[in-house]
Amino acid sequence: MKFRRHNRQDQEYDDQRRRMIDEQLRRRDITDSRVLAAMRRVPRHLFVSEKRRQDAYRDGPMSIGYGQTISQPYIVASMTQSLSMTKRSRVLEIGTGCGYQAAVLAELARQVYSVEVVPELTDKARRILKQLGYRNITMDVRDGSLGWPEEAPFDGIIVTAAAPKMPEPLVTQLKVGGTMVIPLATDSYGRQFLTKVIRTVDGTTRQTLYEVRFVPMIGEVEE
Ligand code: SAH
Repeated sequence: MKFRRHNRQDQEYDDQRRRMIDEQLRRRDITDSRVLAAMRRVPRHLFVSEKRRQDAYRDGPMSIGYGQTISQPYIVASMTQSLSMTKRSRVLEIGTGCGYQAAVLAELARQVYSVEVVPELTDKARRILKQLGYRNITMDVRDGSLGWPEEAPFDGIIVTAAAPKMPEPLVTQLKVGGTMVIPLATDSYGRQFLTKVIRTVDGTTRQTLYEVRFVPMIGEVEE
């Protein structure tokens, strides 16, 4: 009886996830079939607290405790798509949070490196990612505004906390031709804009994508 109830519940989450892909991602501008397939596979509800699971597939961000949030599914998809990863990519994530974005990246890349400043979040993320069988995610508790120099250079860098200025160590840890997506809060009104940075031989090209709302980055980068 218990088992049957469990199955029905899983089926319900699976339906919600399918609807999330169709209604929130496909209907907007998520066209990369690999990104859609990755987000179809990752059980987002397992990354939030048990009592919030029913809300896991809604079209918005959610609290994950410690004053932090898991991004809206569309934002996760859009940032992932912007990175244009291949199966050979090594990518760095700043802000592990609950580990959901790391799981989506791990579906697409060869190796994911993810850093977080709140050790309790890293512990939780590590537990669930292990349970789900991910073997290509390496996590560490450290200030991500300094990147992860020992593992650099990276094909892609994804920053999931808003920086008041461009963290230069991250730019230097990007391979030539590599892409970084980062919410920058450089606007004098405190607005944040998702920015795509491509490292070139002699510098970077930058493109402002759209306005976003992320939690602020903590650490060296603070003003
Ligand atoms: N990608 C996450 C979303 C995390 S919210 C997910 O899928 O759930 C942003 C996270 O960035 C928070 O957990 C916060 O603690 C972390 N963070 C803030 N400043 C940081 C820094 N300097 N280095 C690493 N992580 C940081």
